[in-house]
Amino acid sequence: MKLDSPTLIFSIGILSLLMAFITWTFQGAIAERNYGLKTWSVGISCVGVSLILNFLRGELHPLLGILGANASLMAGGTLGLIAPAIFYQAKFSRPTVVMAISVGVTSLLAYYFFDFPIAFAMIGVCFAMAVVLIYSAVVVYRSAPKPISFSTHAFALSMGVMGMTYFARDVIVGVNPNVSVAPVTLAGTHQSVLIFGALFVVCSSMSFYSMVQEEQQREIRERSKRDPLTGLFNRRAFFESAEKLSEDKSLFSIVMIDIDHFKLINDTYGHLGGDAVLTFAGRLIANMFRVDDIPCRFGGEEFCVLVRNCNEEQAQQQANLVVDKFRQSVIRLPEYDEVKITISAGISEHISGQQLLKTIQAADVALYRAKHSGRNQVQRFSEKMNIESTE
Ligand code: GH3
Ligand code: MG
Ligand code: MG
Repeated sequence: MKLDSPTLIFSIGILSLLMAFITWTFQGAIAERNYGLKTWSVGISCVGVSLILNFLRGELHPLLGILGANASLMAGGTLGLIAPAIFYQAKFSRPTVVMAISVGVTSLLAYYFFDFPIAFAMIGVCFAMAVVLIYSAVVVYRSAPKPISFSTHAFALSMGVMGMTYFARDVIVGVNPNVSVAPVTLAGTHQSVLIFGALFVVCSSMSFYSMVQEEQQREIRERSKRDPLTGLFNRRAFFESAEKLSEDKSLFSIVMIDIDHFKLINDTYGHLGGDAVLTFAGRLIANMFRVDDIPCRFGGEEFCVLVRNCNEEQAQQQANLVVDKFRQSVIRLPEYDEVKITISAGISEHISGQQLLKTIQAADVALYRAKHSGRNQVQRFSEKMNIESTE
C-alpha cells in the first residue's frame, strides 16, 4: 500500500488537533500557575487547521487554501514560541518576532494580490517559521534550569530541527525557485519531510507535557518543604537539612527567635493582623541571613535559623543585627496604625558529634534567658543556664 502525501497531510492535521485537545484538557496541579499549556494547545490547533486547509486546497477558495493555511501555520509557530516563554516566565524580543511574521505576511500578500511568484511567498513564510521555531529552542535552552532534562532537550531539539528544516526549504526555494515544495504536491522521498512533520507534532507536544509535569513535581516538592504563611522552611525540611549537616560534622550555630508579646498583637489586631505580622517577620528573617542558611518557622511565632559556618560569636553578631532591625522596623497593617514589634533570640553553637536536638534545646534555653532578662535582646547559651533552669 502506498501512503500518498495528501493522506499524510490530512492525518497529521487530525493528529495535531487531537494533541491540541489533549493539551487543553491537561490539568495543571498548581492552579494559580500558568504553564503555557492552553497557548500550546491553540498553537498546535493552528498547525492542524493549516494542514487540513492545505489538504483541502483544491476545493477551497485560495483565500482560505493559501492565505488562511499559511497564516494559520505562522500563528501556530509563533504560539510555539510564546508557550515555552510563558512556561519559563522568560522574556523574548517581540520586535524580532513581529519582523519575522511581517516578512511572512507581506510575501504572502504580495503573491496573492500582486502576482508575485509563489516562490516569493514560500521564502517569506518559511523564513518566518524558521525564526520563531529556532527562537523557541533558544528561549528554552536559555531559560531551562541546569542540568537540562531529557524532555527539555527533546522539546528544544524538535523545535530547533523543525526550524532548521524550514530554513533548508528556504534555501532550496531560493536556489531553485521552480522546485515544487507545496506540501500536497510532495512525492516520493519528500514524504519523509511530512513524516518528520508528524513526528515533530507528537514529539514537541509530548515533551512539552513532560516539561510541565517535571516542573509541577518540582514545585510540589518545593511547596512541601515550606510554611505557607511565611514562605520559610517548615520543621520537616529544616530537620532533614540540619541532620545532614550535623552528620557531615559541619560547623554551624542555631538561632532561636521568638516574637515578644505576640499574644498582645493577636488580641489587638485580630488573628489576621497577627498573621500579617508573622509574614513580615518571616520575610525579614529570611532577608537577614545568607542564602546558604536555613531559616524555618519552628511553630507559632517561633523561628529557628541554622547559620552555616558560624561559631556562636559570629551567630550572635548576626542575631544582634536582626534584633536591631526588628526594633527599627514598622509594620503597616491595613486599617490599623503602624505596628512595632521586638524579638528575643537564643544562640547555641553545634558541637560536632552532639545530637542536633541538644543544640536546639540549648538555643531554646538561651532564648528563655533572653525573655527573662527583659526581651528585645540576644543571649548566648552557657552551661550555667542549664543549671539555673533546673534549679
Ligand atoms: P512572649 O514574649 O513571652 O513570647 O509572649 P507571647 O505572647 O509572644 O507568647 P505566647 O506563647 O503567650 O503567645 C503566642 C501566641 O501566638 C499565642 C498564639 O495564639 C499565637 N499564634 C501561634 N500561631 C499563630 C499563627 O499562625 N497566627 C497567629 N495570628 N497567631 C498565632
Ligand atoms: Mg512570643
Ligand atoms: Mg513562643
